[in-house]
Amino acid sequence: MPTDESAAADQQTCSDTYIRSLEEKTAHALERLGGIGAAASAFHFCPSCGSPKLYSVRSRMWKCPTCGFEYFHNVATAAGIIVESKGTILVLRRHKDPMKGRFALPGGFVEPGERAEDAALRECYEEIGWSPSHINFLATFPNVYQYQGIPYATCDVYFFSRGNIIDVEDFHLDPEESDSLQFVHATAIPWAEIAFESTVRALRYFLLHESIGIPPRMPDFDAIE
Ligand SMILES: [Zn+2]
Repeated sequence: MPTDESAAADQQTCSDTYIRSLEEKTAHALERLGGIGAAASAFHFCPSCGSPKLYSVRSRMWKCPTCGFEYFHNVATAAGIIVESKGTILVLRRHKDPMKGRFALPGGFVEPGERAEDAALRECYEEIGWSPSHINFLATFPNVYQYQGIPYATCDVYFFSRGNIIDVEDFHLDPEESDSLQFVHATAIPWAEIAFESTVRALRYFLLHESIGIPPRMPDFDAIE
């Protein structure tokens, strides 16, 4: 029987091990997502003084040695919702790049001052003219969003809404965002055609941990180097 002290020490060791593993885990995920190295050449001149001596530090920040200006290419937040209805999940076919023609969930970038849950509901409403009355937090996953040749590292926040009784006639698709929408059965999710890895992970997590009684079939991420 462990004493309280040894249990606390074990817990601390476990926490230390986990925190120490994060750097490697983060680096691995970033590499798998394609990295953000291409951001290094995004800016050539200091936006403050115009100096051509601007340089990037690990594609995450830029410094100007002439005037001291610093710019941070911080992680952006995006939010999306898994809308489940009768064992099926709503997917939208993207109308625009990146990943035009691939499937995505309703969602988008969080606006300044906005909560992630409100962003998820707002984006859903903007994209299909309907949003669920209640959502639950699911999980977050990293992503790299390529736009006009610049990689944007994001932290994608996923929510879910289960048990919806939906009449698709109520939906009004925004043609600027999506070409079509459909509800796909949980056993027939087109994994290879999902736009973003974070979405694959969120759907996988949802099917595993917020089970609707159907075991998922999905790519094995651990096998991907
Ligand atoms: Zn400068």
